Amino acid sequence: MLVVKKFGGTSVANKERIFNVARRCIEDYQKGNDVIIVLSAMGDTTDALLEKARDINPNASKRELDMLLTTGEQVSVSLMAMALHSLNVPAISLNAFQVQMHTTSRNGNARFKRIDSDRIRHELENRKIVIVTGFQGVNKYDDYTTLGRGGSDTTAVALAAALHADRCEIFTDVEGVFTADPRVVKNARKIEEITYDEMLELATSGARVLHNRSVEMAKKYGVELVVRSSMNTEEGTVVKEVVKVEKMLITGVAADKNTARVSVIGVEDRPGIAFKIFNTLAKNNINVDIILQSVGRGGTKDISFTVSEDDLDDTLRLMEENKEALTIKEIAHNENVAKISIVGAGMLSNPGVAATMFEALCNSNINISMISTSEIRITVLIDEKDADKALVAVHDGFGLED
Ligand code: ASP
Ligand code: MG
Repeated sequence: MLVVKKFGGTSVANKERIFNVARRCIEDYQKGNDVIIVLSAMGDTTDALLEKARDINPNASKRELDMLLTTGEQVSVSLMAMALHSLNVPAISLNAFQVQMHTTSRNGNARFKRIDSDRIRHELENRKIVIVTGFQGVNKYDDYTTLGRGGSDTTAVALAAALHADRCEIFTDVEGVFTADPRVVKNARKIEEITYDEMLELATSGARVLHNRSVEMAKKYGVELVVRSSMNTEEGTVVKEVVKVEKMLITGVAADKNTARVSVIGVEDRPGIAFKIFNTLAKNNINVDIILQSVGRGGTKDISFTVSEDDLDDTLRLMEENKEALTIKEIAHNENVAKISIVGAGMLSNPGVAATMFEALCNSNINISMISTSEIRITVLIDEKDADKALVAVHDGFGLED
């Protein structure tokens, strides 16, 4: 059996934890399995490297940032190989260049295109544990790229798909996917099984357990994922196409505080204006989330939308620079907002789900300022200060507790 095991930054944060991971992987290896380990940078290394870069040059180029960030994962994999060697187990560390993990060229947000499996296969045939750097790739210019924050999950899934692994385990500091963040909602429950689609909606709605791109890729290639704790041997959560456990109406609730609302006020109420506004953002790679347009009056209207807080400065600058062309009279924004989302395939066939959510919020005296939906998700925008309270209220409102 071929297994891919991915460990996040906290799981390899120090010597003791590195050996803990090493021993865990040796267990699998000694059962006769082929083992590939994917690692993130130790602890908060990536943040620390970004901080260093900002200190030297706040406008560092994305190419150089990737050159810097890829060192973090390289430290983890080499130390892991040394730990395994000290336990007398043959192992080899490889970075994205050595494996040849090809990505698109966009630094800081690259996507995998093709992964060579020859080198890894060769090392596995020699009965070595192969340890691969997460989060990184190489582009057509032979430059390093990174996959976006949290991207090591995607590396693990991509390797599992490319090598037709029998199992892909994502080890993290929580015991699996929960019905809500257990640090905020004390009675949140671990989910046994969840579909790719639900997991994808949760991951994009602020549940931090899996990189959303990794779920997308797992679905595309049918890679079954197991999310479990690196600290204990609990079962964890299985992410797959069809789940067999009885479906709850709602699978989970998530909050995303990293969001900001922008309003463009008094734009002309005629065809083409919305297109121009959103096209300006799209051309600059800014993802827009909830959109709300007011009813026209006196030939003008207002449009509000949300963007990630990381994109707020760029968004405001673009709106300001194009104020005249976009016929904007006034630009307003608010960073103190949060999105609360409920996700569940059960809502496809059950009316009243939105009403239950709004009732729970109303009972807690929480005001909703924007709403958006997909087939299996409902998202509301609220005051950021109410986010934790809302998470608990909605979770209880659907009876998701243990
Ligand atoms: N080290 C990278 C990050 O902190 C990638 C990862 O952890 O998955 O975002
Ligand atoms: Mg992560």
